[in-house]
Amino acid sequence: MYSPTCTEAELAPPAELILGTHNAKKCGELRDLLQPYKLELRSLAEVSNPLEVEETGTSFIENARLKATQQARHLSAWTLGEDSGLCVPFLQGAPGIYSARYSDPGATDERNNEKLLGEMRDARLDQRRAYYVSTMALAAPDGQIVLEAEGQCWGRIIHECRGQGGFGYDPLFEIPEYHQTFAELGSTVKSCLSHRARALQQFVRGLLNLWPGLKRC
Ligand code: IMP
Repeated sequence: MYSPTCTEAELAPPAELILGTHNAKKCGELRDLLQPYKLELRSLAEVSNPLEVEETGTSFIENARLKATQQARHLSAWTLGEDSGLCVPFLQGAPGIYSARYSDPGATDERNNEKLLGEMRDARLDQRRAYYVSTMALAAPDGQIVLEAEGQCWGRIIHECRGQGGFGYDPLFEIPEYHQTFAELGSTVKSCLSHRARALQQFVRGLLNLWPGLKRC
């Protein structure tokens, strides 16, 4: 981790923070969650010639670090790398780090959900517990990782898709207390309970230590 003798420039928030993901839905959620803070956010869709970072890590956090470090160096900009996915203990943790490409290399959310339903065919109610994980890493423009965070959210895999909101596995991921999936609950509830919201709460606490000048809007 990064612990140099800080200069004033290092204590001040940067002019902008790159959201190092190509997933537009995920990017939208990160933007909403960071909206209370005075940070200029830029998605990879808004920079010219971003890097395609290969997710060669063996864990979520390794992939988050890769996305942050490589993109930060490439763009010479502060970059937030996020890697997330769904883990099902009944499936020995699958789809895990392969969540985005679970059904096949060119997977779609529909095909991933179909595959998950097939794999969970024989699972009883008590075997349908699952959790989402979100890991985050912040890299300085030289690629050095200065901050990390992780959040989890537990739920249950239901037997058929329900709801239109969210993305990925959300139509199959039920929050038992609400008897509704993340796709049914909508963004207000998801932005309080989700793995990404929890990781970001931890992340922002770290940001405020790193950049005491970071202000709320
Ligand atoms: P990544 O972009 O490599 O981190 O892959 C993330 C994948 O995990 C997504 O494509 C989804 O399949 C799944 N995932 C992560 N977060 C969520 C979420 O909030 N809802 C639904 N699926 C998610």
